[in-house]
Amino acid sequence: MIELKTPAEIEQMRPAGVFVGEVLSELAKQAAVGVNLLKLDKIAHDMIRARGAESCYIDYHPSFGASPFGKVLCTSVNDAVLHGLPHDYALRDGDVVSLDFAASVDGWVADSAITVQVGTARAEDTRLIQVTTDALAAGIAAARPGNRLGDISAAIGAVATAAGYGVNTDFGGHGVGRTMHGDPHVPNQGRAGRGLPLRAGLVIAIEPWFLETTDKIYTDKDGWTLRSADGSNGAHMEHTVAITDDGPLVLTARR
Ligand code: MG
Repeated sequence: MIELKTPAEIEQMRPAGVFVGEVLSELAKQAAVGVNLLKLDKIAHDMIRARGAESCYIDYHPSFGASPFGKVLCTSVNDAVLHGLPHDYALRDGDVVSLDFAASVDGWVADSAITVQVGTARAEDTRLIQVTTDALAAGIAAARPGNRLGDISAAIGAVATAAGYGVNTDFGGHGVGRTMHGDPHVPNQGRAGRGLPLRAGLVIAIEPWFLETTDKIYTDKDGWTLRSADGSNGAHMEHTVAITDDGPLVLTARR
């Protein structure tokens, strides 16, 4: 079911967005050579407690998950791109890590992800991250009343295609509200002018993710982490966006 929020409800969602942005800004600062993924998860967990927020991940147990997630943060390193389960691993020079974080504040959810380079940047990763960032911006720009859902998907997919990256449509964006995942599904590829008419009050997570040289993924033996089929690196960028009469409002914008 598609749920539209009133302008007052969108205002109520702002604190969750601000908090999620703050956590990701802090984690991006902390993600350095030698830092353990479990430490990043702990930082996020401490911030959740200090804020009186609630994790959307720790008890998350969808049909495809082996068991409840048990952590508050997704950390996907190098060939991992989505749902990375934090484990005992210290970041190395040249790693690329995607940090995906969702939390609920005052009963409203926000969901956002960034990909950061650790230590020495590889040029291939810099380009992949830039294209993913550009695709997110293109998707956000299309999130306005009068457009259709397919306009968002097409805008994202066009940026990937122009840069020579494939698009996997198994996982994409989603409605956000009182819970983390609602309708509609927001694929990272689609046909402009098709699909759900976008109306003010629709709040969605827009989240392009691409892999350097493949569009195929497989699930790690941890039951969660999704990795590229060919070992190439991935990037993932996500914002929670409210569609308003004034255009897209990025609730998870980082300062
Ligand atoms: Mg997310």
